[in-house]
Amino acid sequence: QKAEWAKLKDKPSVTADGKKFTIAANIGTPNDMPGVHENGAEAVGLYRTEFLYMDSSDFPTEDDQFEAYKAVIEGMKGKQVIIRTMDIGGDKHLDYWDLPQEMNPFLGVRAIRLSLKNENIFRTQLRALLRASAYGKLGIMFPMIGTLAELRQAKGILNEEKDKLIKKGVKIGDDLQVGMMIEVPAAAILADQFAKEVDFFSIGTNDLIQYTMAADRGNDNVSYLYQPYNPSVLRLIKHTIDSAHENGIWCGMCGEAAGDNTMFPILLSMGLDEYSMSATSILRIRSLMKKLSTADLKELANQACYVSETAEDNEKLVNDFMAKLN
Ligand code: PEP
Ligand code: MG
Repeated sequence: QKAEWAKLKDKPSVTADGKKFTIAANIGTPNDMPGVHENGAEAVGLYRTEFLYMDSSDFPTEDDQFEAYKAVIEGMKGKQVIIRTMDIGGDKHLDYWDLPQEMNPFLGVRAIRLSLKNENIFRTQLRALLRASAYGKLGIMFPMIGTLAELRQAKGILNEEKDKLIKKGVKIGDDLQVGMMIEVPAAAILADQFAKEVDFFSIGTNDLIQYTMAADRGNDNVSYLYQPYNPSVLRLIKHTIDSAHENGIWCGMCGEAAGDNTMFPILLSMGLDEYSMSATSILRIRSLMKKLSTADLKELANQACYVSETAEDNEKLVNDFMAKLN
Protein backbone atom coordinates (compact mmCIF):
# COMPACT_ATOMS: atom_id res chain seq x y z
CA GLN A 1 0.00 0.00 0.00
CA LYS A 2 2.79 2.43 0.95
CA ALA A 3 4.47 1.80 -2.43
CA GLU A 4 1.15 2.57 -4.15
CA TRP A 5 0.88 5.85 -2.21
CA ALA A 6 4.48 6.83 -2.99
CA LYS A 7 3.65 6.90 -6.71
CA LEU A 8 1.23 9.77 -6.01
CA LYS A 9 3.90 12.07 -4.60
CA ASP A 10 4.12 14.37 -7.62
CA LYS A 11 0.58 13.76 -8.86
CA PRO A 12 -2.25 16.27 -8.46
CA SER A 13 -4.97 15.62 -5.87
CA VAL A 14 -7.89 14.58 -8.02
CA THR A 15 -11.09 12.53 -7.63
CA ALA A 16 -12.11 9.56 -9.76
CA ASP A 17 -14.27 11.94 -11.83
CA GLY A 18 -11.47 14.43 -12.37
CA LYS A 19 -12.25 17.13 -9.78
CA LYS A 20 -9.15 18.82 -8.35
CA PHE A 21 -8.64 19.80 -4.71
CA THR A 22 -5.66 20.92 -2.64
CA ILE A 23 -3.93 18.71 -0.09
CA ALA A 24 -1.70 20.77 2.15
CA ALA A 25 0.59 20.18 5.12
CA ASN A 26 0.48 21.43 8.71
CA ILE A 27 3.87 22.49 10.08
CA GLY A 28 5.26 23.82 13.34
CA THR A 29 8.71 25.06 12.26
CA PRO A 30 10.77 25.56 9.08
CA ASN A 31 12.51 22.27 10.05
CA ASP A 32 9.34 20.45 8.99
CA MET A 33 9.82 21.46 5.35
CA PRO A 34 11.66 18.32 4.15
CA GLY A 35 8.62 16.22 5.15
CA VAL A 36 6.34 18.63 3.31
CA HIS A 37 8.26 18.08 0.07
CA GLU A 38 8.81 14.33 0.55
CA ASN A 39 5.07 13.82 0.83
CA GLY A 40 4.11 15.99 -2.12
CA ALA A 41 2.14 18.70 -0.33
CA GLU A 42 0.52 21.22 -2.68
CA ALA A 43 0.59 23.98 -0.07
CA VAL A 44 1.24 24.66 3.59
CA GLY A 45 -2.26 25.00 5.03
CA LEU A 46 -1.23 25.76 8.61
CA TYR A 47 2.06 27.00 10.02
CA ARG A 48 1.60 27.09 13.80
CA THR A 49 3.84 30.03 14.72
CA GLU A 50 3.50 29.60 18.48
CA PHE A 51 6.37 27.08 18.35
CA LEU A 52 8.67 29.93 17.33
CA TYR A 53 7.80 31.58 20.63
CA MET A 54 7.82 28.34 22.66
CA ASP A 55 11.24 27.21 21.40
CA SER A 56 12.82 30.51 22.35
CA SER A 57 14.02 31.90 25.69
CA ASP A 58 12.54 35.33 24.99
CA PHE A 59 10.12 36.84 22.47
CA PRO A 60 11.48 36.21 18.96
CA THR A 61 12.48 39.49 17.30
CA GLU A 62 10.84 40.80 14.15
CA ASP A 63 13.89 39.73 12.14
CA ASP A 64 13.98 36.22 13.69
CA GLN A 65 10.35 35.80 12.70
CA PHE A 66 10.85 37.28 9.25
CA GLU A 67 13.64 34.77 8.53
CA ALA A 68 11.54 31.80 9.66
CA TYR A 69 8.47 32.85 7.64
CA LYS A 70 10.57 33.71 4.58
CA ALA A 71 12.29 30.30 4.69
CA VAL A 72 8.95 28.50 4.55
CA ILE A 73 7.44 30.80 1.91
CA GLU A 74 10.51 30.57 -0.35
CA GLY A 75 10.69 26.81 0.22
CA MET A 76 7.21 26.42 -1.28
CA LYS A 77 8.26 28.12 -4.53
CA GLY A 78 5.05 29.97 -5.29
CA LYS A 79 2.69 27.47 -3.69
CA GLN A 80 0.52 29.02 -0.99
CA VAL A 81 1.62 29.15 2.65
CA ILE A 82 -0.95 29.90 5.35
CA ILE A 83 0.72 31.27 8.46
CA ARG A 84 -1.36 31.54 11.61
CA THR A 85 -0.64 34.29 14.10
CA MET A 86 0.40 32.99 17.50
CA ASP A 87 -1.98 30.72 19.38
CA ILE A 88 -0.58 31.04 22.91
CA GLY A 89 -2.78 30.38 25.94
CA GLY A 90 -5.00 27.37 26.53
CA ASP A 91 -2.42 24.64 27.13
CA LYS A 92 0.47 26.57 25.52
CA HIS A 93 2.62 28.71 27.81
CA LEU A 94 5.80 30.74 27.56
CA ASP A 95 8.25 30.67 30.49
CA TYR A 96 9.18 34.29 29.81
CA TRP A 97 5.63 35.62 29.69
CA ASP A 98 3.96 35.76 33.07
CA LEU A 99 0.24 35.67 32.31
CA PRO A 100 -2.55 35.56 34.89
CA GLN A 101 -3.74 32.10 35.95
CA GLU A 102 -7.21 31.32 34.67
CA MET A 103 -9.90 28.91 35.87
CA ASN A 104 -10.66 27.76 32.29
CA PRO A 105 -7.65 28.54 30.09
CA PHE A 106 -9.26 27.12 26.93
CA LEU A 107 -12.15 29.55 27.47
CA GLY A 108 -9.85 32.36 28.53
CA VAL A 109 -7.35 34.74 27.01
CA ARG A 110 -6.04 32.58 24.19
CA ALA A 111 -4.81 33.10 20.60
CA ILE A 112 -6.28 36.23 18.96
CA ARG A 113 -7.62 37.39 22.33
CA LEU A 114 -4.09 37.45 23.73
CA SER A 115 -2.76 39.16 20.58
CA LEU A 116 -5.38 41.91 20.75
CA LYS A 117 -4.57 42.53 24.43
CA ASN A 118 -0.85 42.77 23.65
CA GLU A 119 -0.79 44.85 20.53
CA ASN A 120 2.96 45.45 20.42
CA ILE A 121 3.72 41.74 20.30
CA PHE A 122 0.99 41.29 17.68
CA ARG A 123 2.24 44.19 15.54
CA THR A 124 5.78 42.81 15.58
CA GLN A 125 4.52 39.47 14.26
CA LEU A 126 2.37 41.13 11.60
CA ARG A 127 5.30 43.24 10.35
CA ALA A 128 7.45 40.12 10.04
CA LEU A 129 4.66 38.39 8.10
CA LEU A 130 4.03 41.36 5.81
CA ARG A 131 7.72 41.65 4.97
CA ALA A 132 7.91 37.91 4.26
CA SER A 133 4.85 38.12 1.97
CA ALA A 134 7.03 39.54 -0.82
CA TYR A 135 8.78 36.16 -1.20
CA GLY A 136 5.86 34.05 -2.41
CA LYS A 137 2.17 33.43 -1.86
CA LEU A 138 1.23 34.10 1.76
CA GLY A 139 -2.06 33.82 3.63
CA ILE A 140 -2.18 35.39 7.10
CA MET A 141 -4.68 33.61 9.34
CA PHE A 142 -6.15 34.65 12.69
CA PRO A 143 -6.91 31.89 15.25
CA MET A 144 -9.91 31.65 17.62
CA ILE A 145 -11.94 34.48 16.10
CA GLY A 146 -15.35 34.50 17.79
CA THR A 147 -16.82 37.87 16.86
CA LEU A 148 -16.80 40.24 13.90
CA ALA A 149 -15.41 42.91 16.23
CA GLU A 150 -12.30 40.78 16.87
CA LEU A 151 -11.84 40.12 13.17
CA ARG A 152 -12.23 43.80 12.27
CA GLN A 153 -9.82 44.86 15.00
CA ALA A 154 -7.20 42.34 13.88
CA LYS A 155 -7.60 43.35 10.23
CA GLY A 156 -7.45 47.03 11.18
CA ILE A 157 -4.13 46.54 12.95
CA LEU A 158 -2.80 44.49 10.04
CA ASN A 159 -3.75 47.23 7.56
CA GLU A 160 -2.13 49.92 9.72
CA GLU A 161 1.15 48.00 9.75
CA LYS A 162 0.86 47.34 6.04
CA ASP A 163 0.35 51.02 5.24
CA LYS A 164 3.32 51.99 7.43
CA LEU A 165 5.59 49.50 5.66
CA ILE A 166 4.43 50.61 2.21
CA LYS A 167 5.15 54.25 3.14
CA LYS A 168 8.67 53.16 4.06
CA GLY A 169 9.06 51.54 0.64
CA VAL A 170 8.91 47.93 1.88
CA LYS A 171 7.51 45.54 -0.72
CA ILE A 172 4.38 43.55 0.20
CA GLY A 173 3.33 40.48 -1.81
CA ASP A 174 0.61 41.07 -4.42
CA ASP A 175 -0.97 37.69 -3.63
CA LEU A 176 -1.36 38.28 0.11
CA GLN A 177 -4.61 36.83 1.45
CA VAL A 178 -6.16 37.37 4.88
CA GLY A 179 -8.24 34.63 6.45
CA MET A 180 -9.50 33.26 9.73
CA MET A 181 -9.85 29.94 11.46
CA ILE A 182 -13.34 28.68 12.11
CA GLU A 183 -12.92 26.93 15.44
CA VAL A 184 -15.35 28.76 17.72
CA PRO A 185 -18.98 27.66 17.18
CA ALA A 186 -20.15 31.30 17.22
CA ALA A 187 -18.03 32.00 14.15
CA ALA A 188 -19.22 28.85 12.37
CA ILE A 189 -22.85 29.85 12.97
CA LEU A 190 -22.25 33.35 11.58
CA ALA A 191 -19.95 32.12 8.79
CA ASP A 192 -22.21 33.79 6.20
CA GLN A 193 -21.34 37.17 7.75
CA PHE A 194 -17.65 36.45 8.36
CA ALA A 195 -17.25 35.27 4.76
CA LYS A 196 -17.85 38.83 3.52
CA GLU A 197 -14.76 40.08 5.35
CA VAL A 198 -12.01 37.52 4.64
CA ASP A 199 -10.33 35.85 1.68
CA PHE A 200 -10.60 32.33 3.12
CA PHE A 201 -11.69 30.16 6.02
CA SER A 202 -9.79 27.25 7.53
CA ILE A 203 -11.84 25.06 9.84
CA GLY A 204 -10.00 24.04 13.02
CA THR A 205 -11.88 20.91 13.99
CA ASN A 206 -9.62 20.15 16.97
CA ASP A 207 -11.09 23.11 18.77
CA LEU A 208 -14.44 23.31 16.96
CA ILE A 209 -15.30 19.81 18.21
CA GLN A 210 -14.24 20.51 21.80
CA TYR A 211 -16.22 23.77 21.95
CA THR A 212 -19.30 22.36 20.21
CA MET A 213 -19.44 19.23 22.39
CA ALA A 214 -18.17 21.01 25.54
CA ALA A 215 -15.58 18.22 25.87
CA ASP A 216 -11.93 19.08 26.59
CA ARG A 217 -9.84 17.77 23.68
CA GLY A 218 -7.16 16.52 26.09
CA ASN A 219 -9.34 14.94 28.79
CA ASP A 220 -9.67 11.14 28.51
CA ASN A 221 -12.66 11.12 30.84
CA VAL A 222 -14.76 12.95 28.26
CA SER A 223 -13.16 11.58 25.11
CA TYR A 224 -16.38 9.65 24.39
CA LEU A 225 -18.04 13.05 23.85
CA TYR A 226 -15.31 14.33 21.57
CA GLN A 227 -17.15 13.28 18.39
CA PRO A 228 -15.89 14.48 15.00
CA TYR A 229 -18.77 12.72 13.22
CA ASN A 230 -21.52 14.10 15.43
CA PRO A 231 -24.17 15.62 13.11
CA SER A 232 -24.02 18.87 15.12
CA VAL A 233 -20.34 19.28 14.27
CA LEU A 234 -20.96 18.32 10.64
CA ARG A 235 -23.77 20.87 10.30
CA LEU A 236 -21.43 23.62 11.48
CA ILE A 237 -18.80 22.48 8.98
CA LYS A 238 -21.32 22.33 6.14
CA HIS A 239 -22.71 25.76 6.94
CA THR A 240 -19.17 27.15 6.99
CA ILE A 241 -18.30 25.66 3.58
CA ASP A 242 -21.62 26.70 2.00
CA SER A 243 -21.24 30.24 3.37
CA ALA A 244 -17.72 30.49 1.98
CA HIS A 245 -18.83 29.40 -1.48
CA GLU A 246 -21.93 31.61 -1.52
CA ASN A 247 -19.60 34.53 -0.91
CA GLY A 248 -16.95 33.54 -3.42
CA ILE A 249 -14.17 32.58 -1.01
CA TRP A 250 -12.39 29.26 -0.52
CA CYS A 251 -12.65 27.06 2.55
CA GLY A 252 -10.06 24.68 3.96
CA MET A 253 -9.68 22.55 7.03
CA CYS A 254 -6.53 22.26 9.14
CA GLY A 255 -7.80 20.21 12.08
CA GLU A 256 -7.03 16.49 12.42
CA ALA A 257 -10.36 15.61 10.80
CA ALA A 258 -9.08 16.71 7.36
CA GLY A 259 -6.78 13.67 7.28
CA ASP A 260 -9.28 11.19 8.71
CA ASN A 261 -10.45 8.38 6.40
CA THR A 262 -14.02 8.36 7.68
CA MET A 263 -14.40 12.14 7.68
CA PHE A 264 -12.84 12.60 4.27
CA PRO A 265 -15.73 11.35 2.04
CA ILE A 266 -18.14 13.56 3.99
CA LEU A 267 -15.90 16.63 3.55
CA LEU A 268 -15.47 15.91 -0.14
CA SER A 269 -19.23 15.62 -0.44
CA MET A 270 -19.54 19.06 1.16
CA GLY A 271 -17.14 20.51 -1.41
CA LEU A 272 -14.34 21.49 0.99
CA ASP A 273 -11.60 23.04 -1.16
CA GLU A 274 -8.40 22.44 0.80
CA TYR A 275 -7.36 19.64 3.20
CA SER A 276 -4.43 20.43 5.46
CA MET A 277 -2.94 17.66 7.59
CA SER A 278 0.28 16.26 9.01
CA ALA A 279 2.57 15.58 6.07
CA THR A 280 2.57 11.83 6.71
CA SER A 281 -1.19 11.65 5.98
CA ILE A 282 -1.06 13.36 2.58
CA LEU A 283 -0.42 10.40 0.29
CA ARG A 284 -2.97 8.22 2.08
CA ILE A 285 -5.66 10.86 1.56
CA ARG A 286 -4.60 11.54 -2.05
CA SER A 287 -5.00 7.83 -2.72
CA LEU A 288 -8.43 7.79 -1.08
CA MET A 289 -9.49 10.83 -3.11
CA LYS A 290 -8.60 8.99 -6.32
CA LYS A 291 -11.14 6.28 -5.46
CA LEU A 292 -14.01 8.67 -4.80
CA SER A 293 -16.24 10.29 -7.36
CA THR A 294 -17.98 13.56 -6.43
CA ALA A 295 -21.02 12.46 -8.48
CA ASP A 296 -21.51 9.42 -6.20
CA LEU A 297 -20.96 11.52 -3.09
CA LYS A 298 -23.75 14.00 -3.79
CA GLU A 299 -26.16 12.80 -1.08
CA LEU A 300 -23.61 11.85 1.57
CA ALA A 301 -23.29 15.27 3.22
CA ASN A 302 -27.04 15.78 3.53
CA GLN A 303 -27.48 12.32 5.01
CA ALA A 304 -24.61 12.87 7.45
CA CYS A 305 -25.97 16.24 8.60
CA TYR A 306 -29.75 15.79 8.48
CA VAL A 307 -30.66 12.09 8.50
CA SER A 308 -28.08 10.63 10.86
CA GLU A 309 -28.77 11.18 14.53
CA THR A 310 -25.48 10.07 16.05
CA ALA A 311 -21.75 9.90 15.35
CA GLU A 312 -22.11 6.11 15.11
CA ASP A 313 -24.77 6.51 12.40
CA ASN A 314 -22.24 8.48 10.40
CA GLU A 315 -19.45 5.95 10.83
CA LYS A 316 -21.83 3.31 9.51
CA LEU A 317 -22.97 5.60 6.70
CA VAL A 318 -19.41 6.07 5.44
CA ASN A 319 -18.43 2.42 5.99
CA ASP A 320 -21.44 1.25 3.96
CA PHE A 321 -20.67 3.77 1.24
CA MET A 322 -17.04 2.64 1.02
CA ALA A 323 -18.02 -1.05 1.06
CA LYS A 324 -20.20 -0.50 -2.02
CA LEU A 325 -17.25 1.04 -3.84
CA ASN A 326 -14.97 -1.95 -3.34
C1 PEP B 1 -7.62 23.21 15.40
O1 PEP B 1 -8.10 23.68 16.43
O2 PEP B 1 -8.20 22.34 14.72
C2 PEP B 1 -6.31 23.64 14.93
C3 PEP B 1 -5.84 23.27 13.75
O3 PEP B 1 -5.57 24.41 15.79
P1 PEP B 1 -4.73 23.79 17.00
O4 PEP B 1 -4.80 22.29 16.90
O5 PEP B 1 -3.37 24.34 16.85
O6 PEP B 1 -5.47 24.34 18.17
MG1 MG C 1 -7.18 25.41 17.33
